[in-house]
Amino acid sequence: MRDQKMPVIFSGHGSPMLALEDTEVTRGLRTLGKNIIEQFGKPRAILALSAHWYTRGTYVQGTANPRQVYDMYGFPQELYDFKYPAKGSPELSSRILTLLGDQVSVNDTWGIDHGTWTVLCHVFPDADIPVVQLSIDATLSAGDIYQLGRALSPLREEGYLIFASGNVVHNLRRVEWDNPGGSPECAAFNQAITAYVTRREDGKVLDYPAVPHAVYAVPTPEHFLPLLYVLGAAQGEKPLVFNNHCELGAIAMTGYAFGMN
Ligand code: ZN
Repeated sequence: MRDQKMPVIFSGHGSPMLALEDTEVTRGLRTLGKNIIEQFGKPRAILALSAHWYTRGTYVQGTANPRQVYDMYGFPQELYDFKYPAKGSPELSSRILTLLGDQVSVNDTWGIDHGTWTVLCHVFPDADIPVVQLSIDATLSAGDIYQLGRALSPLREEGYLIFASGNVVHNLRRVEWDNPGGSPECAAFNQAITAYVTRREDGKVLDYPAVPHAVYAVPTPEHFLPLLYVLGAAQGEKPLVFNNHCELGAIAMTGYAFGMN
């Protein structure tokens, strides 16, 4: 019997090469996974939200055997050979259908994409926890996304981990390949959002277009929106900030873990 709520996580993912790397960021993800298992036991399954399943309407994976989606182009063959053979969980899919009602429908044309597997392969390297992806809904307002996250929060008391993958700052057009850190705009936006998240000024995060450098940091919303689901699912809880780091000029890898030490 579990007596604790599972945490809720937002993680950066950056380049898909993350899956093959051994860096401070990947070590941060491995430590996070170890800490989750130590403090809460192994999650029953993971509800994964990825920036790369960005749809009109909200969809959930239903199958017990999802495919691994290699939704990236021009990378070394080694990355396309990389396997993260997580199963699905029809049981979790069914709980999501119950909690979200007519706001969601089953869709198995997608699967587990690189936003999810390049991160989870470090957090839970054994791939022995089932994963169910939920899409990021392009038609919802920031406030509606926050409410949808809130509607998912009962899953935490049932042993399910909510894990979202995106980036606080993500601007591929402004990537600086020779910059191991962040541009001034990247650092400023990352710092502002991290301060709001830490202080739980959720209204300011929801109103991210008003934060200085938002046009630079969030040129399109799909990598930022996963954070809003997470805030909704962890209302009032203070985050543990991990991988607070900018790279390639215009990518923030910063993550927030709610409900854990
Ligand atoms: Zn991405």
